[in-house]
Amino acid sequence: MRREVNCHGVAVVEMTKRTDGKGYEMVADSKYNRRLTSSSTAQLTGPVAGSDLVKTKFDPTGFQTRGINNNCGAGLSPWGTYLTTEENFLGVFARGQDASQLSDGQNYGRERYGATEDFPGWEYLWHTPEAKDAKIADEFSRWDMTAVGTSAADDYRNGFNTFGYITEIDPFDQNSMPQKRTALGRFAHENCAYAPVEQGKPVVFYMGDDARGEYIYKFVSKATWSNSDIGGGLKAGDKYLNDGTLYVAIFNEDGSGEWKALVHSQNGLDASNTVLPFNGQDEVLVFARAAADVVGATKMDRPEWVSVSPMTGEVYVTLTNNKYRGVREDQPVSASNPRSYQAGEKAAGNDNGHIIRWAEAGGDHAAMSFEWDIYLFATPYDLAAENLSQLNDSNDLSSPDGLYFDPRGVLWIQTDDGAYTDTTSCMLLAALPGKVSDGTAITTSAGQQTRVGMPASNDNIKRFFVGPEGCEVTGITMAPDFKTLFINIQHPGNTWGAIAGGSTPRSATVMITREDGDVILAESFV
Ligand code: CA
Ligand code: CA
Ligand code: CA
Repeated sequence: MRREVNCHGVAVVEMTKRTDGKGYEMVADSKYNRRLTSSSTAQLTGPVAGSDLVKTKFDPTGFQTRGINNNCGAGLSPWGTYLTTEENFLGVFARGQDASQLSDGQNYGRERYGATEDFPGWEYLWHTPEAKDAKIADEFSRWDMTAVGTSAADDYRNGFNTFGYITEIDPFDQNSMPQKRTALGRFAHENCAYAPVEQGKPVVFYMGDDARGEYIYKFVSKATWSNSDIGGGLKAGDKYLNDGTLYVAIFNEDGSGEWKALVHSQNGLDASNTVLPFNGQDEVLVFARAAADVVGATKMDRPEWVSVSPMTGEVYVTLTNNKYRGVREDQPVSASNPRSYQAGEKAAGNDNGHIIRWAEAGGDHAAMSFEWDIYLFATPYDLAAENLSQLNDSNDLSSPDGLYFDPRGVLWIQTDDGAYTDTTSCMLLAALPGKVSDGTAITTSAGQQTRVGMPASNDNIKRFFVGPEGCEVTGITMAPDFKTLFINIQHPGNTWGAIAGGSTPRSATVMITREDGDVILAESFV
């Protein structure tokens, strides 16, 4: 269990250009190299820091917690720090029968995040080793959120509430502590993408909550951007990420959209709420999903990565798939999630996913409204009724997940798929999208009207490679000279990545360079 806890988290590694000019290599003795894991101490910052909701036996004042967990997609800040995201933290916790009674609201808040009473956790079982084997205080019991003591200072009932945040790491300060930025809300964070910054304007971050029927959010900082903060480290983070407004997205049927503020005492977020009375902004943020329910946010088909186009400023989000769409009553087909179908023996719902995009009103990322369409519907090309983007056998895909605009405007799309794997492994595609409203109105096989972007062609989307069997292709960035592309191959099957003489497959980071060392996709596509 100890080994597994320490295998979760983030590695900071310094890389240097290889002497032959092709790609990079690790600087083995760099002072920057370090691990931050599910046992590293982290600071809670922003409106939730010091709240009763995050007081634990580890820190009865509620300012620190132990561990960062299930760190998912990448995020950068405009000032040069790393924003890691806590996604499926639910799985490492267990909850038994509470001995001291929680309020109905507190109980509902836990349930809304999947932690019902007698929840055993997923396969991790980190709470199960015996206390006598612990090497640090409460090493294992801290993963058990059952209220066993008389107050929050006696147990880890609130340990669960200290996970699920955008967490800032300063890779250039090896002694710094991860900062959980609670103002950006608590949910299953996939990644975090900032809009291009402008001197004197707020800084805006976009985020998705990756679970079936969950929401898309943005955070608008109170402080306005100053270029002098570049290189400002966690101090700049304190300035832009601790104070601001969290919004959740509503996608209207007519292609318009609006942002609703998740602010205590606005939009019905107050103590008069019967399901979960919101007594303060800390409660709104810790139970952001429940707050978003109240304001009528649109339930999406599992929002994964977000990326902002450097060409148009429009925002793209992968909606990877959702087997409940149109199947469960609480997730009806909608214009922004318009497909529910059954292909052969496969499960019904939105099996292959799509990519939604929007343009903020007036090109202002802090705007309260936007116009949206669906950039691309993923599907096997021969599933004719669902092939609404006119994909062919050289650019069809399923379950888009990782998403990254490089600075030239090339959109890289990665897949994490189980629906099309009888035909192909997961893949990376390169695309050149147009802009919102460059396509047409359509009606899906589910009878839902919506708007789709211009059709796919071999000139605007191409498969770049297919990964090994069983893998997910994920995690992506590019060197500033566009000559090295970094991606990750996660959980490959067969023996891919095995060490010499072994057969256990291993996940790995992969560098892609051209044989002639030149710029990737230089003349053929950009
Ligand atoms: Ca995810
Ligand atoms: Ca993902
Ligand atoms: Ca995924």
